Amino acid sequence: MNYHIDTLLIHAENVPEKEQRSTTLPIYQTTAFKYNSCEEISKVFNGEAAGFIYSRISNPSLDILEKRLTLLEGGLGSIVTSSGMAAITATILTIAKNGHHVVASNSLFGGTYAFFDKTIRELGIETTFVDPSNAEQFAKAIKPNTKAIFIETIGNPKMDVPDIAEIAKIAKKNKIPLIVDSTVTTPCLVQPKELGANIVIHSTSKFINGHGNSLGGVITDCGNFDWGSDKFKHFKNYGDKYGQLAFLAKTRKEVFRDFGACQSPFSAFLMTIGLETLSLRMEKHCKNAEALAKYLSQHKKVKGVNYPGLKDNKFNSIAGKQFGGHFGSLLTFRLKNKNECFKFIDSLKLAYNLANLGDAKTLVIHPASTICVEFNEAEKKNMGVTDDLIRVSVGIEYADDIVNDFKQAFEKI
Ligand SMILES: *Cc1c(COP(=O)(O)O)cnc(C)c1O
Repeated sequence: MNYHIDTLLIHAENVPEKEQRSTTLPIYQTTAFKYNSCEEISKVFNGEAAGFIYSRISNPSLDILEKRLTLLEGGLGSIVTSSGMAAITATILTIAKNGHHVVASNSLFGGTYAFFDKTIRELGIETTFVDPSNAEQFAKAIKPNTKAIFIETIGNPKMDVPDIAEIAKIAKKNKIPLIVDSTVTTPCLVQPKELGANIVIHSTSKFINGHGNSLGGVITDCGNFDWGSDKFKHFKNYGDKYGQLAFLAKTRKEVFRDFGACQSPFSAFLMTIGLETLSLRMEKHCKNAEALAKYLSQHKKVKGVNYPGLKDNKFNSIAGKQFGGHFGSLLTFRLKNKNECFKFIDSLKLAYNLANLGDAKTLVIHPASTICVEFNEAEKKNMGVTDDLIRVSVGIEYADDIVNDFKQAFEKI
């Protein structure tokens, strides 16, 4: 049966546990797995038999979550990680080595930007940052040693929306994978594979978990990239042995395993609980964000609202096309200055002031003084971060209550 995503979120790979008949994900809270003979364990170690060895490498709870996320992305296979950053680290360090080059969007989640700009530059992997709303810039930045293109579905906090299909064409022409971080859109708004992406990443700490109760990430290989090409000579051993699974095998057996980036089985359980309501929540998140964006755009104390769902937004048409008429739950707006932003945020009663997004609760933050405080003025400009800017991750509360909370805060400034 070909089920709709709303059904897959609940039932994919949710085979009731064989012996005890549990209908929720069994939590295999074990470090290692016992074998009855030396011969048996040695076969698992050298790949002659399937089996779990040690939970840093794989675990039955995580295996089920990986299979479900793979189905949701229409992919070949997935690796679930301890956080979104762990997913990005494992992916990039598997693909790119000392002397290699990556082209990345200049409007990325702060942690990802710093990873490319500082952490891996020191390891000898160079990144060129380009404006993701201009696909040609990716083509221009590609060099002979470029091994990947990295973008986000909606830049955060800039709220810019790249044309994923156009960028995918450039990646394909150059025989390099397009890696798409789809954290803020989730599989409910877009399957990046359909637009030509090769690897999809999520921080499942955000919408997939949905309740701000655990960290996690996932890497999905869409199964549409040739890892056997000359550009990926460093994949040869894995290609010979694992064929199309070369990337997943190399990632799991090297960076993922050796950096200890595994997720706890209990977090995997929480992720599957989150997944069951993802579709419902995304509908409400997007609807509430639209309502708040409209309210803010008519307010005289607001200098500007940045939400792709507003008709006059530069990215309204591409976002609508790519994300099935949805526009996400993140928006930013500008007040007079930093002081006014601080006063406004401090006056909110319902919304939480914290550094997360994708929670059921409405969250606000002043990016310039918090999540982007490490960046210089030019970098902040590229990321669309100004002193007068507030970011909102609109929750799933009753829409009027969110708007009324903002209304009462405006009265205090
Ligand atoms: C939060 C986030 C990350 C990092 O994920 P963690 O789970 O916090 O490590 C990466 N990309 C995007 C778009 C994010 O919002």
